[in-house]
Amino acid sequence: MSNAAVDAFMAGVKAKNPEQKEFHQAVHEVVESLMPVLDKHPEYRKAKVLERIVEPERVIIFRVPWVDDAGEVQVNRGMRVEFNSAIGPYKGGLRFHPSVNLGIIKFLGFEQVFKNGLTTLPIGGGKGGSDFDPKGKSDLEVMRFCQSFMSELFRHIGADVDVPAGDIGVGGREIGFMFGQYKKLTRKFEGVLTGKGLQWGGSLIRPEATGYGQVYFADEMLKTRGESFKGKTVVVSGSGNVAQYASEKVIALGGKVITLSDSSGYIVDEEGIDAKKLAFVMDLKNNKRGRIKEYVNKYPSAGYHTSDASADHNALWSVKCDVALPAATQNEINANDANNLVKNGCVCVSEGANMPSTPEAVNVFIESKTLYGPGKAANAGGVAVSGLEMSQNSMRLAWSREEVDQKLHGIMQSIHKACIETAEAYGTPGNYVNGANIAGFLKVADSMMAQGVV
Ligand code: NDP
Repeated sequence: MSNAAVDAFMAGVKAKNPEQKEFHQAVHEVVESLMPVLDKHPEYRKAKVLERIVEPERVIIFRVPWVDDAGEVQVNRGMRVEFNSAIGPYKGGLRFHPSVNLGIIKFLGFEQVFKNGLTTLPIGGGKGGSDFDPKGKSDLEVMRFCQSFMSELFRHIGADVDVPAGDIGVGGREIGFMFGQYKKLTRKFEGVLTGKGLQWGGSLIRPEATGYGQVYFADEMLKTRGESFKGKTVVVSGSGNVAQYASEKVIALGGKVITLSDSSGYIVDEEGIDAKKLAFVMDLKNNKRGRIKEYVNKYPSAGYHTSDASADHNALWSVKCDVALPAATQNEINANDANNLVKNGCVCVSEGANMPSTPEAVNVFIESKTLYGPGKAANAGGVAVSGLEMSQNSMRLAWSREEVDQKLHGIMQSIHKACIETAEAYGTPGNYVNGANIAGFLKVADSMMAQGVV
């Protein structure tokens, strides 16, 4: 498939899915990587695997009405994209954020198909969410919303059908409310959601998994150049689930985390965010639901900078570092940011967020030979431990913290190895983007071929 063929394929995708720019972006990246695969394996082209893989198996969109604390009726939109079940039940998170639309959920669901293919576990790809904004809502409002959301979603999911988890705006609190409503409606106590509380079917290490996995992946990349986290200065974006546990693991491996952010701005603490300071952030974010700028009230030697959406770059990525760990949201690193990182000596970027780098930024990383781990590979630890939570639920067993962490570490190492080997086999050594896209595709595509045209 030539560049012209990629363009022609994308023209079809865009015509069929207008306005879904994040989805176009995610598909374009994968299709570009797959050119040499389709050339080597004409059978995929004949079976129209690519045409089938970009089309979700099912999209469900529904009304979510609820009543706020003032007694006003509110209406949100809920959705679940069941993208691909060739290798297992649909699996992927739910995102509650005002920006959520079908294009964003489809990009996330599409990425999830390949990511889940990389994990070595039998899980298909899906994603869902709502334009509901949990920020500033009371616990009771969040509960009423979650119950209404699940009052429709429950009929589409199940432990062997579709198993959602958390994502932006969906953490332990929301999973709890949704699980309660699912159980009430179905009378089934089953592993239908992951990220559950430890007393009722959750897995140890699930909250930590995405952030830990992101750092394990970065560590594997650093090792290819004989380096480690020891003594490295690390810039982290976000201050939610992924950012918190990525920071925890960096600290444990001897690195120094100097930034965290939220959608309002970022803090820089040149002395390093140590375990005690991180505990403060976790309490601030997870319990008090405060803003990151409050960090500087507690630790005045740190600086706070308001984010400027109108600027042509994100100043966070101009902070000098050795390693960058984006863990907030899509397209948070543009080409200017990537150039600033490289110029300031950053040698490694490992993505905790999904698609945090624009295509132009990715090109900067690849051309500058920066160790660049795309989200599909680097953040697969979250869904991998979700897969392990499903296994434990099916067996009615609970593994120890060490056991799960060891399995997570092993999975991240095998994803890294698969990326390296596949990139090499297809003529682009060191290119983790091609490695991840091709390795994930091959597993799913071969399963689709075996199962016929369905
Ligand atoms: P959380 O909701 O816990 O935290 C999200 C963080 O990112 C918050 O600090 C939030 O700030 C910030 N953020 C969100 N949207 C924006 C935005 N538009 N601009 C700037 N900052 C923003 O989510 P997670 O930590 O779970 O998710 C972070 C990323 O990791 C997402 O891309 C998600 O898809 C990805 N991911 C998560 C997994 C998981 O297991 N949780 C698994 C794999 C990937 P604020 O509070 O101001 O909104």
